Amino acid sequence: MQPQPLIPISISGLTATQLIQLETCVKCGACAHACPVYNEDKHSFAIPALKLSELRDIVNRANSILSILFPRRMLVARGKLEKIAKEAYGRCTLCGRCWVGCVFNIDNRELREVLRSTLYRANLLPEPLMKFASALREARNPLGLEAKRRLNWVNKLKEVKVGEEASTVYFVGCQSSLTEDGEGIATATATLLSLSREDWAILGEQEWCCGNPWIAIGDFEQARRHALHNTLAIEALRAKRVITSCACCYQLLKWKYPQLIGRQPRFEVLHTSEYLSQRTSIIPHGNPVPLYKRLDVRATYHDPCLLARLGGVVEEPRRIIRGLVKEFIEMPENRIDTYCCGGGGLLKELERDLSVKIGIRRIKHAESVKAELLLTACPFCKANLAEAAAKAGSSIRVLDLAELVARQAGLT
Ligand code: SF4
Ligand code: SF4
Repeated sequence: MQPQPLIPISISGLTATQLIQLETCVKCGACAHACPVYNEDKHSFAIPALKLSELRDIVNRANSILSILFPRRMLVARGKLEKIAKEAYGRCTLCGRCWVGCVFNIDNRELREVLRSTLYRANLLPEPLMKFASALREARNPLGLEAKRRLNWVNKLKEVKVGEEASTVYFVGCQSSLTEDGEGIATATATLLSLSREDWAILGEQEWCCGNPWIAIGDFEQARRHALHNTLAIEALRAKRVITSCACCYQLLKWKYPQLIGRQPRFEVLHTSEYLSQRTSIIPHGNPVPLYKRLDVRATYHDPCLLARLGGVVEEPRRIIRGLVKEFIEMPENRIDTYCCGGGGLLKELERDLSVKIGIRRIKHAESVKAELLLTACPFCKANLAEAAAKAGSSIRVLDLAELVARQAGLT
């Protein structure tokens, strides 16, 4: 047998809290049942805590006196590392559900990001993700499309300010500006901003992907570049506020950008649902009944993981929906316990079938409460759930919250 090449492996970026978390895990396995990947794929490596055993091993090796005396201890066979990389990237949606499932609140999700970054620095990004990463690096969006494509949806509307000073910037996001399915969300949000007489603009070609996929890849330096670029572009328009209809963009802009760029951006960040529930001209006192026709439907709501569990926005979408539909019912696994739609963490790029299976389970949750309409508040969740519903042969309709408000207001 040919000896395998050895690769030097080093770890960086672990905080003191994360080191303590790695040591705290008692391997009880309670997080397993919280994990949407483990629920579909009972492989032991899908157990959140076990997914991190390799990271623990690397950390222990690096901290051992023997590794200082014998640096070759930090060389690992390529074959072994490739196997770890396949699991590290392929069995996690970065949904963060294991964190709420753990008695010690161990944040397996963030630890997983550090493991991915360790593997990425050792050039172990799985092949299918290499193309994805190079498209993202060149085009600054994960679809690899030209920046001018971000304006396609705008051309169908009147009087949208692009790159001009405004008090509010609508950060459209890649999925809403670059995909046909997402355009409906962008158009609905834009018409609602105009309805509330907001002084708003978009960045247009100057908008880059929020940077979330770079974090999932493990390239924190690229994520920082995207954060800095977008922050400076928004600040150049003297905007006081940023509104986004994407849960991933929201979580990044609001919670990660200050960490990534080392300062607080000079604007506040609101998700569309927060904005709409504050705008009494659109939603009087959080209750749109007097202005809007209620949709005669039994509806439920899927909390996007990055909006609810990792973003903290839970009640605003519900307040809006309750006033717009005839019947609202909660589905199982809601609010911060929400269940992943299956599309996060680049799982879709690597393990599409597994990703769809997770989405189908979420569709079943909605069907279990006999919902006819499944609402959500993120273009990625909408796309993943719609795909899962189609694959499962479900008749449930999937719609974004902004689309529902715009429709009931007679705007689209
Ligand atoms: S629930 Fe927490 S302590 Fe138990 S195995 Fe999972 S991460 Fe470790
Ligand atoms: S972040 Fe989500 S998919 Fe990943 S291990 Fe935790 S629960 Fe499972």
